[in-house]
Amino acid sequence: MARLRYRGIAVTAVTKAILGAPEIAEIWQQAGVSGLGDSRIENVRAMRAAGIPTLMTLVRSPMLSQAEQVVCLADVSLNTELEVIRELSSVAKRLGRTHAVVLMVELGDLREGIMPALLEQTVREVLQFPNITFKGIGANLACRSGVSPDIVNMTALSSFADDIDSAFGPVVEVVSGGNSASLSWALSGVDTGRINDLRLGESLLLGVDPLQREPIPGLHTDAIRLVTEVIESKRKPSQPWGKIAQAAFGEVPSVSDRGDIVQSILAVGRQDIDPEGLIPPPGIEILGASSDHLVVESTGSGELLTVGGEISFQINYSALLRAMTSPFITKVMSPLKAVLREEIGENFRA
Ligand SMILES: *Cc1c(COP(=O)(O)O)cnc(C)c1O
Repeated sequence: MARLRYRGIAVTAVTKAILGAPEIAEIWQQAGVSGLGDSRIENVRAMRAAGIPTLMTLVRSPMLSQAEQVVCLADVSLNTELEVIRELSSVAKRLGRTHAVVLMVELGDLREGIMPALLEQTVREVLQFPNITFKGIGANLACRSGVSPDIVNMTALSSFADDIDSAFGPVVEVVSGGNSASLSWALSGVDTGRINDLRLGESLLLGVDPLQREPIPGLHTDAIRLVTEVIESKRKPSQPWGKIAQAAFGEVPSVSDRGDIVQSILAVGRQDIDPEGLIPPPGIEILGASSDHLVVESTGSGELLTVGGEISFQINYSALLRAMTSPFITKVMSPLKAVLREEIGENFRA
């Protein structure tokens, strides 16, 4: 956070992967983020209900059908459709409130965003809506197509901000340069231009840079772990027998015969996690997963795992999203405050 602040960039901490867990939102707030962001209004509602007063941004274009909730619960939303902004404006007017809007610009990843050629015209219209404050522009990269933030697209975003200001006066307050994938660009020592905000989720939660999934110096990659329970542990052949067709999820398993192995079942499945997103501890290898079963092999000592014992995994973003969303996974928050206080010392304002 300090490294970004030094470059004039504030952090909007994105809470969607933790479903707006107020415990974590509060920690982020105390660590000095400028606001919180979430893609789901339900999560924003949960944080408001927990009494979190922070500036709250809805980071997905509001659904028309949820415009009223958005105006009531979020201070800002990221937008690309005039029709939606018109509805936000009319709801805000009716309720006697104001709502701020950041316009998302398409920079090539082809997810959300207004095409650059239409940006100025859109800003002109947004500035005229009653009870709407035009707050700035933003972009999202590396999500749908994997297009990386770089000097070219980030400089383009800065220059769009300049163009808007020269057309309408100084109206662009926020230039939001993307998600965690923009972090390495922002910290690389390049001129960050007018970018003064990043919306960070994955990097704060998992301590990795999502472009290469490399650890970020100074952050922990194991702050969130998945603990599973062993429900079966047996010596079994490595090769199935009988006529082989598709398995539960459409794949045709290919297995070579390695003789008998020590195989265990953990009580977690595709309904709760993405099996590709689990990093097992040493001596454990993932063999497969169905809805409710994760099948693993003990590659180490050859000893059976104890039924009722626990195996703990490091998880990636995809597994985290699913685990946090699964009602079958119990979420346990350790005393983070104590950990943080120890690590960031006087910067921690409890
Ligand atoms: C999810 C999301 C973010 C945060 O992305 P991370 O990769 O988790 O940092 C930022 N902006 C938007 C629009 C998002 O949907």
